[in-house]
Amino acid sequence: MEPFLEPYQYHFLKSQGLKLVNAQISSTDTNVIKAVRGIVEDSILYQFQHCAKEERQLVERMNAVKDEREVEQILTELHPFIIPFQATEEQIQKLFPKVKKLKVPDLDFMNTKQITYLTWWDPGTHKKFIVTVREGKQWGVYGTFQKAAQKGICSICGRHEKTGLFLVERKGKEIGTYKKKGNYICSDGEACNQNLTRLDKLDEFLARLSR
Ligand SMILES: [Zn+2]
Repeated sequence: MEPFLEPYQYHFLKSQGLKLVNAQISSTDTNVIKAVRGIVEDSILYQFQHCAKEERQLVERMNAVKDEREVEQILTELHPFIIPFQATEEQIQKLFPKVKKLKVPDLDFMNTKQITYLTWWDPGTHKKFIVTVREGKQWGVYGTFQKAAQKGICSICGRHEKTGLFLVERKGKEIGTYKKKGNYICSDGEACNQNLTRLDKLDEFLARLSR
């Protein structure tokens, strides 16, 4: 079987497994556990509805986990089926034609099976870069980043985390004018990628910046 899991789907499966385990730890009411199991089953079915039968059978094992050890066991078995984040240095450079002397992180030294989007701080340009691949198309944005004093909701993963304000400058309607667009996102890109179990917020974030 070929790899078929996006990194965020892998994290999604983990979150569903843990949700079911937690229900069994925190409740003795079989109806409650049954209800949670129903929700988990539906969510997994919906997420993988377009997958082949054998692929679905693999991920649906998460519907029957009883403890954390079983969740980990299934995750270990699923790991070879994750599609790693792929982009060459050249491709990334091309996403930012106006940026000179851009230093792209070396993907060989990164855990690319955990990454839905690649992000890094470039000390040369004092900018934060974000690169992702959506439906076969590569996206790249960069902007300033100012860490916030307090935790807040990240507009990419939706979790309450240490965040900062990511601001992108865009040309205004009048020639020579600029406007800034942005939002609060996780300061720690690795943690944010771990939190990602769905893509709607990431897509919204990118769409808003490209408008
Ligand atoms: Zn985040």
